Amino acid sequence: MKDDCLFCQIAKGKIPSTTVYEDRHFRVFLDVNPASKGHCLIVPKEHFDNVYDLDAETAGKLFSLATCIARAMCDALGCDGLNIVQNNGKIAGQTVFHFHLHLIPRYEGDGVNVTWTPHESTSEELEKIRAAIRKEI
Ligand code: 5GP
Ligand code: ZN
Repeated sequence: MKDDCLFCQIAKGKIPSTTVYEDRHFRVFLDVNPASKGHCLIVPKEHFDNVYDLDAETAGKLFSLATCIARAMCDALGCDGLNIVQNNGKIAGQTVFHFHLHLIPRYEGDGVNVTWTPHESTSEELEKIRAAIRKEI
């Protein structure tokens, strides 16, 4: 636990949150400034700065929980879709530096924007990038 970390404090219940689920490892609560109605955050109770820090066991449990919460949200909210978003680093939009997964319900005409502009790429470029990433796995 990092004393100066907002989500450590929330995860451990030292700062109140609108909690929809809690177990030994995770807390799921409503985002205080939601992108849409029912926007949830899944936060591990252990502190990890970002996805690079996360261990495989926590990551597995986390995504398993995410599927369960997503289904519950879909049933409860009657949303038309749902985005799962996870930001790493300031440039990627991370503002709280304790790993968290966003579950954002989507509704027709909600104005939420989590899309990007697709770019052209050549097969040579793709192959070079593929090889560089493969080498690091
Ligand atoms: P990030 O931008 O780091 O991916 O997401 C941080 C999220 O945490 C934002 O959507 C923001 O609204 C939410 N958030 C920040 N502070 C609090 C808080 O004190 N309580 C709750 N429930 N959500 C928060
Ligand atoms: Zn933390």
